Amino acid sequence: MTLFSDLGLSAKVLAAVEASGYTQPTPIQEEAIPHALARRDVLGIAQTGTGKTASFVLPMLTLLEKGRARARMPRTLIIEPTRELAAQVEESFARYGKDQKLNVALLIGGMSFGDQDKKIDRGADVLIATPGRLLDHFERGKLLLTGVEILVIDEADRMLDMGFIPDIERICKQLPFTRQTLFFSATMPPEITRLTEQFLQNPVRVEVAKQASAALTVTQRLVASGGKEWDKRDTLRRVLREEDEPHQRDHLLQSQA
Ligand code: AMP
Repeated sequence: MTLFSDLGLSAKVLAAVEASGYTQPTPIQEEAIPHALARRDVLGIAQTGTGKTASFVLPMLTLLEKGRARARMPRTLIIEPTRELAAQVEESFARYGKDQKLNVALLIGGMSFGDQDKKIDRGADVLIATPGRLLDHFERGKLLLTGVEILVIDEADRMLDMGFIPDIERICKQLPFTRQTLFFSATMPPEITRLTEQFLQNPVRVEVAKQASAALTVTQRLVASGGKEWDKRDTLRRVLREEDEPHQRDHLLQSQA
């Protein structure tokens, strides 16, 4: 069994993971984190619900412990297709990075430019952005992308559906060639494969189970049963009855109270 402490994460990051109650890395975390820490490019084929956010946030936090940001030159950049996803990633940095004094800037549409400008001016360790708003800042000359050490492109196939690929190409061309790229997509249509060939260098490919797998919030159990149809029905009835008993007891107690 692999533990978080086997993956090479820093002590601060491990403490934050422990505080959030996670005991074991998910398959994408187990496979991607050591490569990300070794500064390899990673092509992660995984969908939401697999724990993929932590698979890039945790190694980034570890790598960011050394060095500091300069004004208007973010050290890392995460591109998300929607404001909601961008905000969730920001929350992940707040949770796992609580013991580190990192400047995290969120550049999303529908918010004032002024506050976002201030965060960039201060020097962002982590810039999380949707493509349109990022390019707006860039074109206003407020942002320099030449200091980016790590680029994350998340949910690439959703970016494709939303027509963001030309924006992604424009952004990637402004970044240093020597950066590390972590690229995630649930599916790999030809347009996405082309993008990975263009912007990733000798990536490690990490693929985890999709469609058929249950969300982490669902508990799965195996119950043995005879092979006949009625055996299975009996087993199912028994399982349902057992599951329901505590609820019925609660109801009874509540109605007696
Ligand atoms: P994501 O695929 O990044 O959207 O994560 C899906 C959910 O899994 C989120 O609610 C995370 O908080 C949770 N999660 C991430 N890593 C783990 C882990 N190692 N163990 C249990 N839950 C996790």
